[in-house]
Amino acid sequence: MNPKKQSALNEKAGIAQPENISTSSVVTIQNFRKVKPSSNDLIAGIVNHDKVALSRAITLVESTNANHFEQANEVINGCLPYANKSIRIGITGVPGVGKSTFIEAFGTFLTSIGKKVAVLAIDPSSTISHGSILGDKTRMEELVKNKNAYIRPSASGETLGGVARKTRETIILCEACGFDVIIIETVGVGQSETAVHSMVDFFLLLKISGAGDELQGIKRGIMEMADAIIINKADGDNIKKANLAKVEFNRALHLFPAKNSGWQPVVSTCSAVTNDGIENVWQIIEDYLKLTKENLYFDKKRQDQNQYWMLETINENLKNHFYNHPEIAKLIEDNKKAVQENEISPFDAATRLLNTYLNKS
Ligand code: GDP
Repeated sequence: MNPKKQSALNEKAGIAQPENISTSSVVTIQNFRKVKPSSNDLIAGIVNHDKVALSRAITLVESTNANHFEQANEVINGCLPYANKSIRIGITGVPGVGKSTFIEAFGTFLTSIGKKVAVLAIDPSSTISHGSILGDKTRMEELVKNKNAYIRPSASGETLGGVARKTRETIILCEACGFDVIIIETVGVGQSETAVHSMVDFFLLLKISGAGDELQGIKRGIMEMADAIIINKADGDNIKKANLAKVEFNRALHLFPAKNSGWQPVVSTCSAVTNDGIENVWQIIEDYLKLTKENLYFDKKRQDQNQYWMLETINENLKNHFYNHPEIAKLIEDNKKAVQENEISPFDAATRLLNTYLNKS
């Protein structure tokens, strides 16, 4: 008797899993877990423009597992010599303004002129809900299928700073993978625009025409950051209103001080549905690139941004190290109570905690 046949515990062979993984533009995180590629494998894959290797490397970068930290750094360092060759565009606008429809139209246009486009997102809400502005599959349906496009949802993490740093590193990986236009999308909430602004060459604010008073509710800081304000949904009955909004924004922008880039921000209209004005947005960006490359502002800004990210990373790591220190974590709780009961001032408590930490590390 064959005991194997008798046992209810025998495993059935089942159906072999296909070895590979979809090469579509949206790559899921599960794929990464199957094998553990070496850093060199990942770097080689990325510089050979393999999107699967790219996705795996991004997953490493996004990982909160301390063991992945070192490998992520190795891969980023290996990719650095191949990076830096893209144009980085930040896009912001309130929900419903048409960001994903615009990126779909704009991205598709860019691929039609031979560009390779990566779309990343910084979504502060995803750090709370673990959802994502790019996670919804119905968004950018066409671009997702385009072989010259790559779409990656926002990393989730505990802090905006952490998410932003991961996106900053992901830009390097995408550039090494041959993407020459990197679009970083964010929703106009919290500090996310500032984070995006600090990692892009060109910052685009998407608006729609409102009920007449276009400037109401718009944050001054965002207007100041914008290199272009594009009024979307300029189609059908909306065209007239969009043109009026354009005049109003133009007038407002002229009141701001001149930018260090020497660039005068441009206001324009477009329709992400009819594609009117989409090509013109690219023309505006090309004009900007021409000016800022000639006057050397482009390189200077990138150098400043690199220094900024170095300092930001130090800040973030110091904070993490402090708060995750087991003894400190306990002392913080004790001190919180003491502060609450007025036994010690908050400043005194902070100083004591920091001194204890510095003596321990
Ligand atoms: P997001 O939240 O900023 O990403 O906005 P969506 O891209 O999801 O667009 C919100 C709604 O506006 C959708 O129903 C779109 O179809 C619509 N929409 C986006 N762009 C345009 C446009 O140019 N014209 C018109 N008429 N509708 C648009």
